[in-house]
Amino acid sequence: ATDFGIKDALQQLGVKDINNGTSTGSNNFSTGEIIESYSPVDGQLIGKVKTTTRADYDKVMDAATTAYQSWRDVPAPQRGDIVRQFSNKLRDLKEPLGKLVSYEMGKSLQEGYGEVQEMIDICDFAVGLSRQLNGQTMPSERPGHVMREQWHPIGPVGIISAFNFPVAVWAWNTSLAWICGDVCVWKGSEKAPLCTIACQNIIAEILKENNLPEGISCIINGDHKVGEMMTTDHRVPLISATGSTRMGRIVGTTVAERFGKSLLELGGNNAIIITPTADLKVVVPGAVFGAVGTCGQRCTSTRRLIIHESVYDKVRDAIVGAYGQLTIGNPLDEKNHIGPLIDKDSVNTYLAAIEKAKAEGGKVLVDGGVLEGKGFESGCYVKPAIIEAENHFKIVQHETFAPILYLIKYSGEVENAIVKQNGVAQGLSSAIMTNELKEAEKFLSYAGSDCGIANVNIGTSGAEIGGAFGGEKETGGGRESGSDAWKVYMRRQTNTINYSDELPLAQGIKFDL
Ligand code: NAD
Repeated sequence: ATDFGIKDALQQLGVKDINNGTSTGSNNFSTGEIIESYSPVDGQLIGKVKTTTRADYDKVMDAATTAYQSWRDVPAPQRGDIVRQFSNKLRDLKEPLGKLVSYEMGKSLQEGYGEVQEMIDICDFAVGLSRQLNGQTMPSERPGHVMREQWHPIGPVGIISAFNFPVAVWAWNTSLAWICGDVCVWKGSEKAPLCTIACQNIIAEILKENNLPEGISCIINGDHKVGEMMTTDHRVPLISATGSTRMGRIVGTTVAERFGKSLLELGGNNAIIITPTADLKVVVPGAVFGAVGTCGQRCTSTRRLIIHESVYDKVRDAIVGAYGQLTIGNPLDEKNHIGPLIDKDSVNTYLAAIEKAKAEGGKVLVDGGVLEGKGFESGCYVKPAIIEAENHFKIVQHETFAPILYLIKYSGEVENAIVKQNGVAQGLSSAIMTNELKEAEKFLSYAGSDCGIANVNIGTSGAEIGGAFGGEKETGGGRESGSDAWKVYMRRQTNTINYSDELPLAQGIKFDL
């Protein structure tokens, strides 16, 4: 891996003591057991991080709650300026941070850089937003009265993130939360702990340069047990959690029990509907990138193609043909399309899913399997598979976080395809490929896709930060990133002000004294 400049990248990011002792990073009070981070790229140990104990956690929360008291006093546009400085630093460090993402998580280098670019983009969005945290005014029914709505900071925000976007999801949350006047406590994925340390180092430097307390941005390390310290903590009014539906079910109910708010970004089971008029030039790259990009480890990865029977054979052959051209290997080498899965557990889940699909009657069109030999020593490289299946198969109904694409046939009108597309428990991303205006509009209508994201003539993955991101049903209902997603990081207050000399009651109620 040193060939690809990983050592230099880690040094530039201040991630210390590689392969020798622990990497503590800044504002990381952690003193607990050690997590070792192994790269799925080559199986090498990259570094070690200490987990957060209960006593460490309380120190972090003290730092966060104290910092909140002064951070909320800073005017929002000035908070935006801190985010601007942070994004400039990210521009400087795009290369090393993108490399670390690629090496620790296993996505292609281009996607690693893309993830850092997403951080920069959301920061730019947040800077502009820092002057637009606008409330409304409403006419009062009472003479001499005005009504208005204000948005206030909510407090320390807890962020729990998944391994597959080990840096961008944090930035989606923090950049907005910071301009809103909140401080953030982040538990990154235990599968990519060095990415967490690197990000914290970057913001810590900006805060220091501006004489601001580092408690504005805090990290805690470890698995679900560390996450639970935060989800059960009444000092954390909002938990933003990204990960599996299994995790979201636990986090959502735990936070609700204490009347906290949660923003849940959970699993997807995303489909593309391919209609008779679909343009193959668009379908093939859209479907193939959607299915194999990030080795099928995006929440928006394409899992199902729902293809009209009249074009089924043509589409199937084109996609199977394209799979033949894919190169699998070290993701830091830009000639490879597909890198490894995150770990061997994930490889086993992938293999089991293929067996389950076969057992339910699925027909394998492109066979999967684990790659062995030189360059594949980590044991995490797999071949992307294509399986002809039925939508109701149990395994098709389930999100397998790996490159397995199910081909499903539909006949008749587009409504039949929409029923299949909606016929899963998850509701994140969806797409239709068509040149028929009526089909596209039906798909986007209230009776169409039931997902949070619905696209026409592009695939299911690769969202831009300008729109609100998230999904319905078991995807959890949360929205992050663009549009008015910022509102979740604030509390709304309605004000009624009487500037008259009387006290008329609402609804004309009389109360004579
Ligand atoms: P995961 O659910 O195993 O872990 C996600 C995070 O939750 C980790 O930081 C983990 O430590 C933490 N966690 C797990 N159980 C917890 C608990 N009980 N209390 C507190 N924290 C807990 O998911 P993963 O394997 O890291 O990521 C893959 C999953 O994430 C997929 O299902 C994918 O679709 C989903 N995902 C969704 C989005 C989205 O925006 N909708 C984005 C990325 C990933």
